[in-house]
Amino acid sequence: MIAPTASDPAIRAELERAKAANEAKTRYLAAVSHEIRSPLNVIYGYAQLLERDPGISGAEAGTIIRRSAEHVTNLVEGLLEISRIESGVMTIRAEPIDIRALLQQVVAMFRMQAAAKGLALTLEIDARLPDRVKADDKRLRQILINLVSNAIKYTDAGSVAVHVGYRSQVADITVRDTGIGIAAEDLDRVFAPFDRGSSSEAQRQPGIGLGLAITRVLASVLGGDIAVTSTPGAGSAFRFRVMLPAVDRAVRGANPGGA
Ligand code: ADP
Repeated sequence: MIAPTASDPAIRAELERAKAANEAKTRYLAAVSHEIRSPLNVIYGYAQLLERDPGISGAEAGTIIRRSAEHVTNLVEGLLEISRIESGVMTIRAEPIDIRALLQQVVAMFRMQAAAKGLALTLEIDARLPDRVKADDKRLRQILINLVSNAIKYTDAGSVAVHVGYRSQVADITVRDTGIGIAAEDLDRVFAPFDRGSSSEAQRQPGIGLGLAITRVLASVLGGDIAVTSTPGAGSAFRFRVMLPAVDRAVRGANPGGA
């Protein structure tokens, strides 16, 4: 047998792929360290101030320290969530669920927040969507919560509309807002971990830039896909498509105790 050498095209391609993956990992770790270091620096700074200057208001410093600590906690939890999903530790539990109730509950969660900003929040569901489908309730809910919460966060006036289409067992869910929008050059970036886009308007809102990264990973684990279209200054539409097989009522009725 002839041993493969680095000059073999297949081996070279594999080495290139490993090198690219390694570089991506290094960049990712650098981004993680940077994101964690910034709030930690704030904590150190205020702790030192408290040590050196007993006259400083402990309450004010305490609030800033607590907020920064919360930020680090959220970052770590978000990262753990991504690694749990990617490593396959998090298993998908597809069970028969009441999909209409799930959609209504998610929208209801944001009613007050939308009303406080004067936004119309609507939900429109295709009549073809079955009452019961097989899906992972928790993960589906999490994707929708992330999308609706972003739509409200990045919209100051107008509306947030959730539309749910259904065809050939595939749900086509669009969350459309009339908010600040996303620049064309940012459209691909917004799904990357820690990316908060380039607009200063978006960065004025609180956030850690992990919501859409988690949403995309979850969508792919559920076998679905997510895409965004947007017009800066006019609004964005996040479209999430996923297969949601209808639960056959007749079969369930014929075998009430069965799975
Ligand atoms: P975060 O909201 O914590 O920054 P996300 O990962 O959820 O993190 O979003 C990444 C970035 O994508 C946001 O910082 C923002 O720039 C942009 N973005 C997300 N959703 C919207 C939206 N509905 N309208 C405008 N920009 C959005």
